[in-house]
Amino acid sequence: MLAGPTGPADKPLNALHNPVTLHVVCPYMLLRSVDGGQERYLNAHVSQGSWPVLVLNADFRPLSYYPLSLWSWQDAIKAVFLDRVNIVAHYDRAVHSPSFEMQLPSVVSLKSFVKPSTHPAFTRFNVFLRDRFNCQYCSSPEDLTFDHIIPRSKGGQTTWENVVAACSPCNLRKGNLTPQQAKMFPRQTPYAPTVHQLHRNGRLFPPNYLHDSWLDYLYWDTELDP
Ligand SMILES: [Zn+2]
Repeated sequence: MLAGPTGPADKPLNALHNPVTLHVVCPYMLLRSVDGGQERYLNAHVSQGSWPVLVLNADFRPLSYYPLSLWSWQDAIKAVFLDRVNIVAHYDRAVHSPSFEMQLPSVVSLKSFVKPSTHPAFTRFNVFLRDRFNCQYCSSPEDLTFDHIIPRSKGGQTTWENVVAACSPCNLRKGNLTPQQAKMFPRQTPYAPTVHQLHRNGRLFPPNYLHDSWLDYLYWDTELDP
């Protein structure tokens, strides 16, 4: 039994023989939390005591900023044993069995570069991320829905260029009207974003916890493009 930092209930060492799924963090996962009655959209739920491991691509950039690409320490150690990652930084903490001791990695990098998709999928999450989780009519971050700028009843398509994040009150107010009829215009012209643009927006939403060793590989405040 591998006695880990989270107690004797941890996975046994033979779990290392299980295949590792390298894409543990789904980049399109929608995380929500109800905080004080308000629904908010969150980056990764990071629990400091669970020893999460920051996963970098082979170019030392995070696989994803939002949610931040994190693995459990168990998955990270499996990937080390399967020779799929390099350990870049450690926690000051070890796991051990009678014959084996290993410092917990805090940052790993993939040995093989994963090419990011050039064109992000048209998903609910990515529309919200493009619009920075703000209503495109009043900037409210609360109670977000999707609005067809040209209503579907008037032939509007469900596309990057015609769908924006909108709070429920604005969505209701606009109803089946065009922007000209409702005198409601989105704050930015909606567009099909690049991965780079979505990463840039993801950087505006750091998770609740960041380990010191991650900071050399994350850039939350730089690159605020005009
Ligand atoms: Zn609104």
